[in-house]
Amino acid sequence: MDDCIFCKIASGAIPSAKVYESGRVVAFLDANPMSEGHFLVVPKTHWRDLAAVPAGAAAAADDAATIAEVWQVVAAGVAAAVEVFGGGANVLQCTGEEAGQTVPHLHVHVIPRPKGGETPPQFSSGAFRYASDEARAATAAKLDAAIAKRMQP
Ligand SMILES: [Zn+2]
Repeated sequence: MDDCIFCKIASGAIPSAKVYESGRVVAFLDANPMSEGHFLVVPKTHWRDLAAVPAGAAAAADDAATIAEVWQVVAAGVAAAVEVFGGGANVLQCTGEEAGQTVPHLHVHVIPRPKGGETPPQFSSGAFRYASDEARAATAAKLDAAIAKRMQP
């Protein structure tokens, strides 16, 4: 993608404060950090977002290795954030503008939350209520079928 800023960072055409790099994945400090050390884990493969990543039988071995390494780096990055800053960390992935995605190249945020730091944004647990147990079960069934379709061997 010629006009993708994260592809340019991945190729080194645009400089960044890198915290990890391999042949498949790069991680670098966010340009607009929510906290000290906030960084992004980015596959060098240009996928628009997490919904664009092939899964199950649709995933070529190379793609599967790339997405596996992304999540390995997220896990290592969370552990590193706890080691470097103390406290904890948030992991955030935004797919789609409705979810707040601003750069259309898959990325996972690792946001260190140091002890004594600012209170993280409140997540709205309980903001949605199912109309009934049947409605809740119907939603679970729709998601179950859609995930199974993507994960089928
Ligand atoms: Zn890109």
